[in-house]
Amino acid sequence: MSTIELRKVTKRFGSFNAVRNVDLSVAAGEVVCLLGPSGCGKTTTLRMIAGLERPTAGDLFTAGRRVNDLPPEKRNIAMVFQFYALYPSLSISDNIAMPLQYERVSREDKERRVRRVAEILQLLPVLDRKPAELSDGEKQRVAVARAIVRDPDCFLFDEPLSRLDVELRHSMRGQIKEVLSDLSKATVIVTHDQLEALTMADRIAIMKDGMVEQVGSPHDVFARPANVFVASFIGTPQMNLIEAEIKGLDAGAACLRLDGGQIRLAAPAALGGLGSPNVTVGVRPRAFALVAEADKETVAAQAELIEPMGAETLIHAKTSGGINIRVVVPREKRVRAGEAMHLRPDPKQIYFFDADGEAVHA
Ligand code: ATP
Repeated sequence: MSTIELRKVTKRFGSFNAVRNVDLSVAAGEVVCLLGPSGCGKTTTLRMIAGLERPTAGDLFTAGRRVNDLPPEKRNIAMVFQFYALYPSLSISDNIAMPLQYERVSREDKERRVRRVAEILQLLPVLDRKPAELSDGEKQRVAVARAIVRDPDCFLFDEPLSRLDVELRHSMRGQIKEVLSDLSKATVIVTHDQLEALTMADRIAIMKDGMVEQVGSPHDVFARPANVFVASFIGTPQMNLIEAEIKGLDAGAACLRLDGGQIRLAAPAALGGLGSPNVTVGVRPRAFALVAEADKETVAAQAELIEPMGAETLIHAKTSGGINIRVVVPREKRVRAGEAMHLRPDPKQIYFFDADGEAVHA
């Protein structure tokens, strides 16, 4: 069975903890993206699975066997790097066949396998060409073809699309996802691009400072972020996160001190069980309604900068207490810089985080 499992895996470089206590399992046929800011330990985690780094502690399993002490070539894993090197003097066909050279495969079988992966990745018309005669997207597909030709247990991708231009990345995301979904292998993809993770992954593991902050489906990490970090990392423009103090709770609502004033917001009952009255209120920029009159459920802010984004407009606003708020409205909603706004958060889309930054769920 093609699976990957990490149990309490840690990697130290000297006294520096690059990866800390990571638990992660990837099922057969599942695509998991490791997503996080630069230096959070994504590549180190991937390199440990590949056997290019040895874990300092913890256990690593692929296809059901413990592989901590197994060299990369004995792990039957295919890895696609950001900087894929194709052999310039060899044809595309020979480039794809390269991983088969150490396997006892007949010439006919080799040709058959190359043609099969070339067909999956739509490379049949370019098999006789040299790498220099291919577009960047085609070269990337050759790198993927070379990885899957060998029928490995698992696939590892390190920023596979980061060298491609925006349009090509968009189409390649879909193509790679489609190819992977037909192969029933456990796949781990490292990326710092959340759009890539949200579109390609069955589940996303969001990392920070060597630790996994949350693992969940793209919908889960967006709709139910586990903490302030995940809430701020997933979603563009970024979620507004505003410090507030609980003053009282009643019938599904909280009275909060926020920006020097008071506001009443729909809130989970669990807010009553917190040890501290200090919370962070999270509202995504698209979850505000602009209303004509101020009331107990609105925040007052002044539009400072208007950023057209095509079908929508991003407004950078500031409250009288100096809190910056990002609001996204449909393009038709005309707002000018300097205009006073009354913002009402959608009661169904308000997030609360406790004093430690952990989500308070209903
Ligand atoms: P990026 O997106 O920038 O590639 P990343 O999340 O993949 O970042 P890693 O490459 O895994 O991060 O690195 C995690 C941390 O470990 C970084 O602070 C990095 O400097 C450090 N690190 C990685 N490899 C080594 C090494 N061989 N020796 C010492 N420190 C290292």
